[in-house]
Amino acid sequence: MREEIAKAVEYLLSSRRTVALTGAGISVESGIPPFRGPGSLWEKFDPMEYAHINAFLKDPEKIWKTLIAEMRDVLMNAAPNAGHFGLARLEKLGLMGTVITQNIDGLHQKAGSTDVIEFHGNFAWLSCLECGIRKEIGQVNAADLPPRCDCGGIFRPDCVFFGELIPPEALDRSQQASAQCDVMLVVGTSATVQPAAYMPVIARQRGAAIIEINPEPTPLTGTTSQVLVQGKAGEVMNELVSAVESLKK
Ligand code: NAD
Ligand code: ZN
Repeated sequence: MREEIAKAVEYLLSSRRTVALTGAGISVESGIPPFRGPGSLWEKFDPMEYAHINAFLKDPEKIWKTLIAEMRDVLMNAAPNAGHFGLARLEKLGLMGTVITQNIDGLHQKAGSTDVIEFHGNFAWLSCLECGIRKEIGQVNAADLPPRCDCGGIFRPDCVFFGELIPPEALDRSQQASAQCDVMLVVGTSATVQPAAYMPVIARQRGAAIIEINPEPTPLTGTTSQVLVQGKAGEVMNELVSAVESLKK
């Protein structure tokens, strides 16, 4: 077993309260491109032109027909991978509590995690800009964009656009979970989008051990995190959880 995996196993087995923070990287093996880098959505769509709330409000039809249509095709067909399943397996063993995710793809819930905080909302849900009613994205008429509510209002995705605040309840719960954990597993995030990237810092300040799983080092590596297990989320989680399962038996 790699030294980093052995260390991570030791931390997990001795922790009373473990939480996870995940980012786009955990869903890469599910075929969802990450935020930055080659193949990313932002190579095609400038975020300030397409993913800023003001851009959406100014021309919802354009954003629905481009960015949202493309994301819908990718996200609706995605299935969880070994990274998501690994976190759910840890929960079953009693070794994982809250999963704070920056992803909007709903894959943690599909994999079986039961306590998920969606820091940036969920793409599968829409809400009406006029009356606030919520509907699943599959329930609205996709032929006529932007989709409209019975009240005449335009539907928006229930995710956090640039220029918007994190839903206060998600932020409060995440800060609390981060402050109260002994171990935080940070999987597949570049730790550059705030305030999500601050959660490991809160945990560290309260004495928690921070374990990162990522093919690349991040700004947390060597400063906030004690261990970086380098590799793909699915492969590393499989190795890690299998080791934990065999020691727990
Ligand atoms: P990011 O795109 O900034 O960084 C991705 C990170 O994942 C990088 O550190 C990269 O090294 C790592 N990575 C790449 N492949 C990996 C793999 N196979 N296993 C593990 N790690 C891997 O992502 P971020 O930090 O989450 O910030 C991006 C923002 O964009 C988030 O706030 C999120 O809301 C949004 N986003 C969500 C999705 C999704 O829902 N799946 C996809 C793209 C972007
Ligand atoms: Zn309405």
